[in-house]
Amino acid sequence: MAAIVTDPVRTHVLGVPVDVCADVLQAALALKQRGGGQIVTLNAEMTMAARADPALGAAIAAAQLVIADGAGVVWALARQGFRVRRSPGIELAWNLLEQAAARGWRVALVGASPAVMAALRQRLAEALPALQLVFNAHGFQKAEAWPELERQLLAARPELVLVALGVPRQENWIHALPGSRQGLWMGVGGSFDVWAGAKTRAPAWMGTLQIEWLYRLVQEPSRWRRMMALPEFAWAVLRERR
Ligand code: UDP
Repeated sequence: MAAIVTDPVRTHVLGVPVDVCADVLQAALALKQRGGGQIVTLNAEMTMAARADPALGAAIAAAQLVIADGAGVVWALARQGFRVRRSPGIELAWNLLEQAAARGWRVALVGASPAVMAALRQRLAEALPALQLVFNAHGFQKAEAWPELERQLLAARPELVLVALGVPRQENWIHALPGSRQGLWMGVGGSFDVWAGAKTRAPAWMGTLQIEWLYRLVQEPSRWRRMMALPEFAWAVLRERR
């Protein structure tokens, strides 16, 4: 008997859309079957960025699936009465690569440094030898190279496209690509760096304590300014309810 899959329920956190899903992988696979679209992995920092940046706000509003990646968003949803598990984008993205390998999807990878992209391709060839990689481009191209790369990418008719250009560039870039597109398109932030071994994820216990952000801050102290969005997010959510 097929598993019962509840459809995602769309709600908003501080005016930014987010889909409450029982199972994000099933929601992504269902989206693929419906013809595909953009997947956004929303955290507190991104929610605050979307409120300040209309282009990012529009890209998220137009996305077909917005998942709760981040303890802050899960907490804000709980205050609305939605009990959801945190769904790290890096885990959904890897699960989608596994699905792609198993189902023969055409896969494209865009972003990260040339060295990380090279290491990632090697890692994927070892971990998922059946993966059909139809296009890859690192994320530090000259501005004039992008139009031709975009043309080649679309011509490759990918069914899964993972984009590691950082927030908000990756979301805005996916949203602005011209033409009709099939498949799943997803911004994955620093996931390529982690998969390639250039960066490490926080240990599981930090995830349980919901302090992965602290690990990230220690690894990349320059992020402190961006992370000021976290207390601002908490304060805005508390005020919104009142
Ligand atoms: N990146 C890129 N081109 C750029 C700037 C960044 O490809 O011009 C890549 C970078 O190498 C990294 C990813 O984008 O792999 C961004 O990772 P980050 O952890 O900063 O993601 P965020 O937290 O912004 O989602």
